[in-house]
Amino acid sequence: MDYEVIIVGAGSMGMAAGYYLAKQGKRVLLIDSHNPPHADGSHHGDTRIIRHAYGEGESYVEMALRAQELWNDLQEQADEQIFIPTGVINIAKPDSPFMKNVINSAENYSLNVEHLTAEEINQRWPGFDVPEGYMGCYEVDSGVLMSENCIRTFRNQAEAHGAVLKVNAPVTAISIFGNSVEVKTAEETFTAESLILAPGAGTRKLLPLIGLDLPLEEQRNTFSWFQTEESMYHSNMFPAFSFELPNETYYGFPSIAQTGVKIGRHDGGIPRDMDKAIDPFGTQEQDEQDVSSFAKSCMPKLGQHKMGKACTYTNTPDSDFIIDRHPNHDHVVIACGFSGHGFKFSSVIGEILSQLLTGNKESALDISPFSIKRFSES
Ligand SMILES: Cc1cc2nc3c(=O)[nH]c(=O)nc-3n(C[C@H](O)[C@H](O)[C@H](O)COP(=O)(O)OP(=O)(O)OC[C@H]3O[C@@H](n4cnc5c(N)ncnc54)[C@H](O)[C@@H]3O)c2cc1C
Repeated sequence: MDYEVIIVGAGSMGMAAGYYLAKQGKRVLLIDSHNPPHADGSHHGDTRIIRHAYGEGESYVEMALRAQELWNDLQEQADEQIFIPTGVINIAKPDSPFMKNVINSAENYSLNVEHLTAEEINQRWPGFDVPEGYMGCYEVDSGVLMSENCIRTFRNQAEAHGAVLKVNAPVTAISIFGNSVEVKTAEETFTAESLILAPGAGTRKLLPLIGLDLPLEEQRNTFSWFQTEESMYHSNMFPAFSFELPNETYYGFPSIAQTGVKIGRHDGGIPRDMDKAIDPFGTQEQDEQDVSSFAKSCMPKLGQHKMGKACTYTNTPDSDFIIDRHPNHDHVVIACGFSGHGFKFSSVIGEILSQLLTGNKESALDISPFSIKRFSES
């Protein structure tokens, strides 16, 4: 057998898993169709928010807290910035389900969260213009992950622990046997005892190779940078944020290293055809329109729109992740469907994936909400 574990997709989740496995002395091969970090998956655009009081549901909080510990550990080994403790403010109407989850998560897990009225938010951060009737939950200990630095550091560390990386090598065939797997690229064939499949937006195309069909949808989402007055929006004074309006949800980042404020719309992306290259930013009317109209109404002190980029979400029907073993093959694990909110967890998901293939073969954290079988139950 060439390796103990082959990881298909060395992006956010796969690269982290490769690191945690290699660190335990496992013989690991990571295969990626690109050269991670790169701008053709779901992790580019410099930054990702990490929130702990979790609007998408309390079941994520323990994972978020463990993820933060692992990011802090990674920072110790990194040559570049991994985490910036900007704080994160969640802004929404008090009766929004997202806000209620944030408040309950903070209470039940004793998280360091301040509740603010719209007026208090606008006074504290004059870069916002939050309408009356909204509230904010400011998470003091959350912040911003430098996503490409995170993947680069996991990569360097994984390779330092002996992991082998094949880049620019799309996987074209997978065969699963009783106690082994065989994975092919155009040029080579590899065998291993187990397999982790984490190809992000490429998952749906690879699923038939392992006899699975999962309800995944790829969606094109964009984000933009705005010219910024540093004295108001610099990352040492302005927080990252999520901002839920009645029919739209936005998120954003302070200006980091003078790049300007970055804003994206979380909902409202458009379906993406994975057989074609992604339509570049600016080819759809709403690309600039959405974020600019949000900026005009809720952050009117921002300057001009500078530039934007397009990226891909891989959505599940309930927006919860899929992290599970293959229903017929215990030595094959699948991690996909991160629905536009997975990056913050990639450290802990890497750890979980490594646990599923080593030791007692269970994760210490509850991953039952992410099962494959939930799609066949109703
Ligand atoms: C615009 C945008 C904003 C976001 N904001 C946030 C945020 O603020 N906070 C947050 O937590 N999350 C956020 N997310 C979500 C997060 O970035 C994703 O959930 C996460 O990056 C998904 O990780 P992944 O490993 O599944 O995919 P990726 O990181 O894309 O990795 C998948 C890898 O598989 C490779 N691959 C694909 N097909 C093949 C193949 N056939 N053979 C070999 N390799 C293959 C790809 O090249 C890629 O490197 C955002 C996402 C986007 C797009």
